[in-house]
Amino acid sequence: MKAARESFYAARDSRTTACAGNTDYRRGRVVLSIDDAEAETACGQIAFLTAANLLARWCRDVRFVAPIVDLHPRAQTLAAGISLLGEGAASIAAAADPFGHFNLGAPSRPAEHQLHVGARCPAGAYPVLGRGWTALGGGAARCAPSQGGQTVLGAVLAGCAGTAQLFRAAQGQRCLPSDFRLSLWNLRGGTEAKDGPDVSGADLGLVYLVGCGAVGSAIAYLLPLAQLLGTFVLVDRDTIDDSNLNRSPLFTSLDVGKSKAVVTAAHLLRNGLAAEPYVEWFDEAVRAGHVFLHRPDLVIPAANDRNVRHCIQDQIPPLQIYGTTGRNWDAFLGRHIPLQEDCLACRFPSPKTNGEPPLICATAAIPAPPQAEERQMDAALPFLSTAAGLLAVAELLKVTTQGYPASPNFACLDFLGDLSDFVLDQRRPKGSCRCALQSRIWAELNGASRFSSLSTAAESPHDDRESWNPPAARHTFIGAADRGATCGGDGLSTRPAVTFSSRTSG
Ligand SMILES: [Zn+2]
Repeated sequence: MKAARESFYAARDSRTTACAGNTDYRRGRVVLSIDDAEAETACGQIAFLTAANLLARWCRDVRFVAPIVDLHPRAQTLAAGISLLGEGAASIAAAADPFGHFNLGAPSRPAEHQLHVGARCPAGAYPVLGRGWTALGGGAARCAPSQGGQTVLGAVLAGCAGTAQLFRAAQGQRCLPSDFRLSLWNLRGGTEAKDGPDVSGADLGLVYLVGCGAVGSAIAYLLPLAQLLGTFVLVDRDTIDDSNLNRSPLFTSLDVGKSKAVVTAAHLLRNGLAAEPYVEWFDEAVRAGHVFLHRPDLVIPAANDRNVRHCIQDQIPPLQIYGTTGRNWDAFLGRHIPLQEDCLACRFPSPKTNGEPPLICATAAIPAPPQAEERQMDAALPFLSTAAGLLAVAELLKVTTQGYPASPNFACLDFLGDLSDFVLDQRRPKGSCRCALQSRIWAELNGASRFSSLSTAAESPHDDRESWNPPAARHTFIGAADRGATCGGDGLSTRPAVTFSSRTSG
């Protein structure tokens, strides 16, 4: 038993430790609480269950404090088969980590670290909550407006940001964000964060989800929560192992050894969405006629192994929306509206042949010490994949709203900063890229796709880009080689030289 426990944690925590730089987080004891008023609401329950899931991905001792209330119907997609809130949180945690200590009820002694969902926050705890498209933390959560409505994604961001806050505290970081207000609607923070229209649910048509790793599975995990519909074709040949359990909110210890595509599709099917998994790499699925024989309405490119991004671009795809994570505590949103914006190949140029192996999943790679046989190890933090998946799902939810797109096609949220704002940038096509030639036949292939009018509209939606970019985001961008990045796989190659956040304060 002890050997199994040690083996599990060694594999599970390997990528977290590679990114965090030390193992202090392993010793943290955490209390996650929710007050009576918030526990009665869908947003309160969703923030609570999201935090329970993500805390259990790194913290081995979590106590859940919640009133005895039934799970709200909207929260049930996050805790299948569970009827009570506190029980749901403990059940999610135990499924994520079979060796952890996860208990219900008030602690007998003050908690080392406490995250609280709701405005009535106990002394010493950090409050978060979600309202519509927005997530609030610290002082902003203490004076939050009352809630209602169908949009609940801000609550997921509150759970992610709250978990990140506790992770930093468990790491011994002292300069933490005192409060934050972030909007998934206009991707702005602080006083610029706007709560968008109350929308929930849209039919996305035929969607290809390419890659069911941490970010791809997180997107699938959140689709039913956003009440998004469609027919989803999932492609991934990989299987789940213990090292995936540090960050995928969907995968549990019982899923280890199973196909990522099959487990991800099962979640969609369980929640009433149409899903068809293919246990193949993307190029194999193309050759077998499982994808692109029928033209999709939308592609979610959530993998980067086997040069998959360029293989997708070779298919002259319709609209693409996705999330990625970076090694520097970043979650990214990516979008490509063909004929209007840059393409996958523009954004992720082929890696230079300098001896560095390509990445094998949607995480950044960091160089391993030379003595480790020049192996590269993936680095990934527990809350980033869910945050990146959330950025993508929020964008998917906006697709059918009037006036779309409402924000630029590149966004970055830096969880090591002060969470004061997103970094935004509008990426344009490169004239030398293959997409310039593809534009001649794009309409012939995709004219009947559901979102083709975004591409063929007479006027570029980006002419007014100045109004999109916050002043601090107008800066120069540096290339991968300039900053010593080992890859361009995750938006890193074009990461801003300057961000809003004061990284050094961490
Ligand atoms: Zn291009």
